[in-house]
Amino acid sequence: MLEHYFGTENYIGSPELNATKYIMSCNCPATEPGPTLASSCGGSAFMVFMGLLEVFIRSQCDIEDPCSRPKSRISMETEYDFIVVGGGSAGAVVAGRLSEVPHWKVLLIEAGIDEPTGTQVPSMFLNFIGSEIDWGFKTEPENMACLGEPEKRCYWPRGKVLGGTSVMNGMMYIRGSRTDYDNWAKLGNYGWSYQEVLPYFLKSEDNLQADIMDPGFHGVGGPLTVTRFPYHPPLSYAIVQAGAELGYPIRDLNGFQHTGFMIAQTTSRNGSRLSTAKAFLRPVKDRPNLHILLNTTTTKVLIEPSTKMVYGVEINLNGFLQRVLAKNEVILSAGAVNSPQLLLLSGVGPREDLQQVNVPIIHHLPGVGRNLHNHVAFFLNFYINENSTAPLNWATAMEYLLFRDGLMSGTGISEVTGFVNTKLANPTLDHPDVQYFFGGYLANCAKTGQVGETAPDAKNSQRIINIIPAVLHPKSRGYIKLKDNNPMSHPAIHAKYLTHPDDVTTLIEGIKIGIKLTETNALKKYGFQLDKTPIPGCEKMTFGCDDYWECAVRKATGPENHQGGSCRMGPIGDPGAVVDPELKVHGIDKLRVIDASIMPMITSGNTNAPVIMIAEKGADMIKRRWIGRRLWNKW
Ligand SMILES: Cc1cc2nc3c(=O)[nH]c(=O)nc-3n(C[C@H](O)[C@H](O)[C@H](O)COP(=O)(O)OP(=O)(O)OC[C@H]3O[C@@H](n4cnc5c(N)ncnc54)[C@H](O)[C@@H]3O)c2cc1C
Repeated sequence: MLEHYFGTENYIGSPELNATKYIMSCNCPATEPGPTLASSCGGSAFMVFMGLLEVFIRSQCDIEDPCSRPKSRISMETEYDFIVVGGGSAGAVVAGRLSEVPHWKVLLIEAGIDEPTGTQVPSMFLNFIGSEIDWGFKTEPENMACLGEPEKRCYWPRGKVLGGTSVMNGMMYIRGSRTDYDNWAKLGNYGWSYQEVLPYFLKSEDNLQADIMDPGFHGVGGPLTVTRFPYHPPLSYAIVQAGAELGYPIRDLNGFQHTGFMIAQTTSRNGSRLSTAKAFLRPVKDRPNLHILLNTTTTKVLIEPSTKMVYGVEINLNGFLQRVLAKNEVILSAGAVNSPQLLLLSGVGPREDLQQVNVPIIHHLPGVGRNLHNHVAFFLNFYINENSTAPLNWATAMEYLLFRDGLMSGTGISEVTGFVNTKLANPTLDHPDVQYFFGGYLANCAKTGQVGETAPDAKNSQRIINIIPAVLHPKSRGYIKLKDNNPMSHPAIHAKYLTHPDDVTTLIEGIKIGIKLTETNALKKYGFQLDKTPIPGCEKMTFGCDDYWECAVRKATGPENHQGGSCRMGPIGDPGAVVDPELKVHGIDKLRVIDASIMPMITSGNTNAPVIMIAEKGADMIKRRWIGRRLWNKW
């Protein structure tokens, strides 16, 4: 039997597991394969190399991890104390934390399968978009954005898998700015100021580089390992230097200040992805009081109409509808699209929306599905003076397979980020209005594995680098409605990107600063040249003027992946609020929403870490309600 003992710095931080080391064993049946790497690269040309690589990856015990994965229940109880719907970034944390209380029976229901092994390799993070573990949402046709896309619909990838979108995200660990949370609190959300949420970030965290980060802002010993990827392409260092040249310091952006550049820390461990399922569920998979149902879609929350009290959920298991009862609470952690969808399917939402699709009304709650928003971005493409070779080849593969190092152990230069104030931001606040993402050197697909093979996405012989400004405080708001009352249909998503003119202006300013970045001394040696091929539909405008950029961002919109706000938190009396500051649904007893949808305004940055914090705080509030103020802290 092959057994590995992780070093002490890697053991899982869940209370009862802190005392023991996490034992990894491989002597278990292989996991379900899920979508393969070869298929994710698109076509038969990739079959041989990607197929072989997959075999090697799946033979790695720590990546495949067959013995530690939670198993889906074959049979379940008729009643649980708590039912958590959705095992994503938030739901895995909530279920893990609630099941710490040994006398509570917890059921976690997840629509998708367990994490495919290929998702564990950081450089493959984009491969699974469009696969069976992606919900593959498309917005309704947009009027002012995504105009160059088929039917003017934007594509929204979301994880349909245990671990949710934390299984397909870029792993960047970003908390947002102090002002984000202070603004939530100012809206009447007591308990959500930065000072009050900081302990919940720290609670999860096992920061392996705490000694070099800002003191007082990081935790160690939690279940969520936070660290930089092991390898950084030289261009990553050059970009942060370029940011510094423009006056944006290189710093810990999760610490004292939030404006600047850095090579980000990530939710990864030993060169592989750390989804919330891996961090919060695998170590406790043997708890007898935690049951997990995979491949099971919750179709509605069961609510007693006269008392408006929740008593369970209805699920679709192998095509059959069943009911499971909840004694204490149901928690919706189905994400910013599916949580409002489930409330609507259950009769909680705007009366007129429910009437349109013949859903019996249990409770008129006008805010459900409203206030939907997201960061919005634009991809600037540059050629640099390097040949466009595929970063994935046998050499990088061996470096990864043998040492968990090299380009496969990271996301190329997507590990770098920068937060800046455009001229539209308030310079007295440390609350940046644009975030930069970068793309390049991603070791994700190759046909032969030969060193020097042309990159699959090459447009000419030069390597392409993306600089991607994203608007952090979008003012445009969209909404989600049901298309019909079939729970298996996707809801109608009206993203309404760029409907507020300030979002366009901010994005254009972000584009200009992005171009300036490439003119710095730090980046000169790379010979950055902006690809000036006009965006189709914008050919008649002078390239680079504001009108051109407005046309470009509306045609080739970068829809970002930080959706939130669709079950907005707000105090009693706030007409658009869906949950109160304890995340309880207004007007309904024993029902909470805990995920990205509760954010009143999405945070300034990537949203995974904030969602994990929300889940930690939400689980604590549940313990306080059902255990009592004096005792909840025990678990
Ligand atoms: C491509 C991409 C890259 C990203 N990169 C980053 C990054 O680098 N850093 C970062 O911080 N954030 C990133 N994000 C965003 C971040 O991952 C999400 O904001 C976060 O995961 C959302 O968490 P959630 O719990 O709200 O939803 P999810 O994680 O999506 O969880 C919802 C879960 O509920 C399940 N579910 C839904 N409906 C039902 C139902 N009816 N029955 C049962 N189960 C159901 C889903 O299958 C899913 O598992 C990225 C996102 C994407 C798509």
